[in-house]
Amino acid sequence: MISLTVKSLPVLTDNFIHVLVKDSCAVVVDPAEAAPVVQFLKSHNLNLSHILMTHHHADHTGGVKELKSLYPKTEVIGFQGDRHRLPPLSHTVTDGTQITILGIDFDVWHLPGHTTGHIAFIATNQHIAFTGDVLFGMGCGRVFEGTYEDMFNSLQRLKTLTPQTKVFCTHEYTVNNGRFCETILPNHAAIKERLKNCLTIREKGEFTVPLRLSEELNTNPFLFAENLQQFSQYRDARNRF
Ligand SMILES: [Zn+2]
Repeated sequence: MISLTVKSLPVLTDNFIHVLVKDSCAVVVDPAEAAPVVQFLKSHNLNLSHILMTHHHADHTGGVKELKSLYPKTEVIGFQGDRHRLPPLSHTVTDGTQITILGIDFDVWHLPGHTTGHIAFIATNQHIAFTGDVLFGMGCGRVFEGTYEDMFNSLQRLKTLTPQTKVFCTHEYTVNNGRFCETILPNHAAIKERLKNCLTIREKGEFTVPLRLSEELNTNPFLFAENLQQFSQYRDARNRF
């Protein structure tokens, strides 16, 4: 394995900006803001080589323009089908695109549901995935533009990753999602246990992200829903929670 680290910067209310660092270079994923990234890069003497965006929402793209002006050689990467509503792109990608960034191989997956043009960047060899607003701890993204079927299929696809995959989602929602899960599955021991653990983590000021896919498979009803109908019931109930 290549030696790399991922630092997750907490920003806004509950967002993360994930910064992948290898040697003296960094890649940022979904920079909601520029300032925390610039501060991190400066304090670690890093150059910004790439900006990856999972989808067009402002809390995933808000810092792109400023970062690009401060680091003009940075390559900005986003979904081809959304180029009209993303900041200007250096490279467009689509489902199945393979790109190598800092020597790390990424597969791009199109995972619609939250938005129609949502993508994920998956570094299979490193067992890491940047999944934006598709999968959350014990939850999943709201379905704004796509259909429930889109989101269900996108989550089913994430289940095909190796269970040891670390999932870097963009929001810290795990505790709230866990509380919701308890309302629909009050006797689920693994959910109860995980919620307890996550509360302890958050009380210490730490974060529950990255998620471990193995844990999501056992405690995330949106992943283990038996079919689209059950998934839709859960999603509707979560919207009302
Ligand atoms: Zn979003």
